[in-house]
Amino acid sequence: MTDDSTLHDSKASSHQARMAARKVVMDKKIAKATEERGVLILLKGNGKGKSSSAFGTMARSAGHGQRCGVIQFSKGRMETGEYKFFRDHPLIDWKVMGHGFTWETQSKERDIEAAQQAWAAAEKLLRDDRYQILVFDEMSYMFKYGYLDVEPVIEALKNRPKMQNVIITGRTMALPLQDIADTISVVQDERHAFRLGVKAQPGIEF
Ligand code: ATP
Ligand code: MG
Repeated sequence: MTDDSTLHDSKASSHQARMAARKVVMDKKIAKATEERGVLILLKGNGKGKSSSAFGTMARSAGHGQRCGVIQFSKGRMETGEYKFFRDHPLIDWKVMGHGFTWETQSKERDIEAAQQAWAAAEKLLRDDRYQILVFDEMSYMFKYGYLDVEPVIEALKNRPKMQNVIITGRTMALPLQDIADTISVVQDERHAFRLGVKAQPGIEF
């Protein structure tokens, strides 16, 4: 017969045994992961949470005193909360594509010009080892719309400083980027408040 306390004891000891076994497995994995280098992270998919995750990681990085660079490859219809919050941070350089352009004259040529200007800024950051993390927000659309060629981007990413981390966001990712990425996370769209009729709000959407 087992009373409550012996049942509790046996549950506790089997939990302890499971945890100990898991620790052995984890310790082995940790011992194997010895390489020290920057990583390329892709955040893709149709769900909400890609850009906010990228900027969350950047906050983490800045918290450790690391220098950060952001290039936003979207026109940005308004100044986002993250931009307003981070732009004056001494460790963060933030460029929005198309700032300084007149967007009233919507044309493909202007878009391409803005994209190339943004890429020129990104390329500069990819050669600068003072930046420990770079966020290229919504960059994937540049390839989708043919505003940028993917090959020079792949080359620049491959040749970047060894310890530099790069995060690229966008719903669909160019396959060559996926080929060289270290971490790829897919944010799945299961439900979104917008489809329930909830109005976009500052602090959540932008
Ligand atoms: P966030 O910036 O909130 O992390 P995201 O970067 O994953 O979102 P984007 O594709 O860049 O998503 O879209 C940006 C805007 O569209 C945000 O305001 C976001 O709330 C909204 N959004 C993202 N996914 C969806 C969706 N599945 N349905 C409706 N709106 C969405
Ligand atoms: Mg986004």
